[in-house]
Amino acid sequence: MKKTKPGYSLFSNFAWSVRMLMRYSRTALLLSALFIPVRIGLKYLEIYLPSLAVSEVTKGQPLCHALPRVGLVMLAILAGSVVLKALGYIRSSALGIYRYKMADLVTGKRLSLFYQTYEQKEVRDLAGRAETVTQMWDGVLPLTDMVEGAFGVAENLLGYLLFGTVISFASPWLVPILTAAPIVNLLSVRAYNKWEYAHRKQMTDLDQRLWYVAGLPDDFSAAKDIRIYSMASWLRACYRDLSGQQARWDKALVKRNFFTRTADLAVILLRDGGAYALLIHMFYKGQISVDEFVLYFAAIASFASWVDGILSCWNKANTMSLKLCDFRAFVDYPEEWAGRGSARAEDHRDAPPEITLRNVCFRYEGAREDTIHNLSLQIKRGEKLALVGPTGAGKTTLVKLLCGLYRPTSGEILFNGVPLSDFNREEYYQLVAPVFQEIQTAFFSLAETVSGKSLADTDLERARQCMCRAGLGEKLDGLPDGIYTKLNKKVHRDGTELSGGEAQKLMLARALYKDAPLLILDEPTAALDPIAESRIYTQFNEMTENKTALFISHRLASTAFCDRIILLEKGQIAQEGTHRELIRAGGKYKELFEMQSCWYQENPKGGEKL
Ligand code: ATP
Repeated sequence: MKKTKPGYSLFSNFAWSVRMLMRYSRTALLLSALFIPVRIGLKYLEIYLPSLAVSEVTKGQPLCHALPRVGLVMLAILAGSVVLKALGYIRSSALGIYRYKMADLVTGKRLSLFYQTYEQKEVRDLAGRAETVTQMWDGVLPLTDMVEGAFGVAENLLGYLLFGTVISFASPWLVPILTAAPIVNLLSVRAYNKWEYAHRKQMTDLDQRLWYVAGLPDDFSAAKDIRIYSMASWLRACYRDLSGQQARWDKALVKRNFFTRTADLAVILLRDGGAYALLIHMFYKGQISVDEFVLYFAAIASFASWVDGILSCWNKANTMSLKLCDFRAFVDYPEEWAGRGSARAEDHRDAPPEITLRNVCFRYEGAREDTIHNLSLQIKRGEKLALVGPTGAGKTTLVKLLCGLYRPTSGEILFNGVPLSDFNREEYYQLVAPVFQEIQTAFFSLAETVSGKSLADTDLERARQCMCRAGLGEKLDGLPDGIYTKLNKKVHRDGTELSGGEAQKLMLARALYKDAPLLILDEPTAALDPIAESRIYTQFNEMTENKTALFISHRLASTAFCDRIILLEKGQIAQEGTHRELIRAGGKYKELFEMQSCWYQENPKGGEKL
């Protein structure tokens, strides 16, 4: 198996975490540092208290001498505990806010990463792992536990030095005995971490598939197919198989963890047993008094906890550091089209653009051959171009290339003569308004869905006009809350659900609202009834006024109103011309057109019209 080296070292991750805390939650950082002296002081007072009480009693001190001293130490312990608790509450709420700010970084990256990059499975898996770092599982929050671990090492190291000094007064042998043994623990935990890190990709892969299958019952669109196509038993078998694999991973994890813990426990037993035996021996030999025995006995227990603390915090920092590597790797994931170009969207907004494709090839990652082959095409200013072709010819891929969601594998695309790579990516997106085949509406109001902004930032009148132009006027009039109606019944009790055709119209309204100079409609009428479809065609010229437009459709008759038709086949232009020219020329277009239109004609055998 290929070994994967963590992308960032422990120290780099610590420095990064501190920087992030400085930027997003100074309070949490300050309190974490403040914890150190308070906790060490408290621990010392706790071991000092029984020894002080024994010393007062064995030295026969009167009650008025003993009580104030013991009482004062008790009061200090109480005050320290209260301060510690209060600091703990403040810190955990500060860390909560910090966690959301960091989760926001992941969400931001997920929402803005170059689409072609984000489509890659390993990037999506990395995003999933980065997200889990910001979540709390079993009280563990990897994002902040890295810093906690590092501060813990510092705290335990200070405690170790202080208590080590106390213990060395009893016997200098005690310090090395108590220190050396836990090395076994360090090594076994490191082996466990290495194993888990090396297998994390397989675990993520399995996790994703399991979540997908487990989430299907909750998915309305899948629920219908599952029932009608009797897929339940197949899906359950899938679920059983995947959960079986998951259980085997869990078992392997638990087994490794168990051996790590057992080795740790055996070492603790030997270490503490040896130290206590030495202390008892010294007491019987009269080398230490009762109160010293009590002090050293408690100090050994505490000292052991400092040593354990150093190791467990070190291990914790290491474990969390590995998880943090995924978080940082995703948040810092290199942008493929960072677009530092000088071209500005505002220089191209007001007039219909000219689009040029020069020898464009595109191949999907892992595919054996190109989906778009050496395609050259010029779309004139204000031209209404139809793109037709058989299923899988590469029409949607071409749309994604034009939208700047993919980059050509070779060749280039120019917008008004400017290569797309000269634009800042976000700037370029302002220039295109596509309506894609797959429709996705979230749970926002109709107005927000159309504008892609919050209600406050939406031009409500314009949103309403765009909805009417897209054929949703009547629907709007029928909704009690009109443009404020919220989508998605799962989320809103008074929400609404749109039919496939209505959702398609809504997406068209969104493209109209954006008012970009390049309008791209990928099968915009596939889910519409004939009346709505014909209305879109008649309004097409008005919708695309002062724009260059690309119209994709499988219904060849519907492309007749375009200036030019391109027939795409296997990623190449097979034919081009107007509808009339293509019919006259014969060939593939005519063949497809006749095949389709024969179903709308009189049956030659005297049957009925279909
Ligand atoms: P349709 O008319 O069915 O919408 P299309 O002409 O729009 O088809 P595309 O969606 O561009 O065709 O797909 C062209 C080819 O690219 C198909 O063979 C498809 O399997 C492949 N393809 C599409 N999307 C991806 C992807 N994300 N990853 C890998 N291959 C893809």
